[in-house]
Amino acid sequence: MKAAIFVQAGLPLAIEDRPIPRPGPHQALIRVHRCGICGSDLHMTSGSPFDMPCGTAPGHEYAGEVVEVGPDAAPIRVGDRVTALPMSACGDCPACRADMPLHCTALRSMAGGYGEYTLIDTRKAIRLPDTLTYADGALVEPLASALRGVRRMGPLGPESRVAILGAGAIGASAAFWARRLGAGHVAMIARSRRNEGLAAAMGADGFLTVNDDLPRQLEQMLGGAPDIVIEGAGSSGAIQQSINLVGNGGTVLSLGGCIQPDPIMPAIAMFKDIRLQFSVAYGLADFIQCVNALDAGALEPRALVGETISLAALPARFEAMRSGSHAAKVMVDPTII
Ligand SMILES: [Zn+2]
Ligand SMILES: [Zn+2]
Repeated sequence: MKAAIFVQAGLPLAIEDRPIPRPGPHQALIRVHRCGICGSDLHMTSGSPFDMPCGTAPGHEYAGEVVEVGPDAAPIRVGDRVTALPMSACGDCPACRADMPLHCTALRSMAGGYGEYTLIDTRKAIRLPDTLTYADGALVEPLASALRGVRRMGPLGPESRVAILGAGAIGASAAFWARRLGAGHVAMIARSRRNEGLAAAMGADGFLTVNDDLPRQLEQMLGGAPDIVIEGAGSSGAIQQSINLVGNGGTVLSLGGCIQPDPIMPAIAMFKDIRLQFSVAYGLADFIQCVNALDAGALEPRALVGETISLAALPARFEAMRSGSHAAKVMVDPTII
């Protein structure tokens, strides 16, 4: 099979021939139909301490068709259309029992969506309802990350004022969940107006740029200072900017995952008496909630999807995305010859 392999930082991904893996216990082999390109794939192949192992295929936002199952794979069967958490975990440790498999001591990455086939853990897989496409299935992972973060903000209601910094996939997904989970006022702030349409499609009431008269215009838009500022930008300075914007006693939720040292002024956060919350990943419950929302007709997240490219086009496109400018989510379809 063909797969796009991370050779080493500084080199583009390489399309290589690899043996098709065979599923072990609790595993299934899927033919990948869609895999989203994520900012973290770029980060984890950039020569930072967070790099993935050289010689492996990235790709953790995937959906595909089950073509072979290993022992004890039930209820997942050959022919099922699935998405899955891109990880395998023991299922029995405190982290797993808390539905936080990323922190399982037996964690194993099941990335590999940038290939024609990849293995999944069937205990972490969800069948796609007929209403959902493979592209929808590949959106579940990024949606689940945002969902977990927004859920941590506690109940939202008509009075909730949420501002989101960064209008890429993470920020827009956070807007979708803030709205869907009941927030009455949702505003997005970005560097440019490019994603204003996306923000509106995902449920934001208003859109501002960093060049606007913040925080005055933000307060006007929300009817007061935000109780919650969600940082989905991942750039240096975004956490401090969020602290500057949040109202007294509010919460800053950081989902951006900046990989540079990023100073903040603690005295401002302290004076405002705010909570600074980080959030990573998701559990099976988050995946199920995402699939159920899409199946119930909340198809706004389709607005996230931009171009769909072949595996052969992936390495050049992936490098081009490092220079920063990527609007909608690019998806790889490894079935395109
Ligand atoms: Zn991702
Ligand atoms: Zn575990």
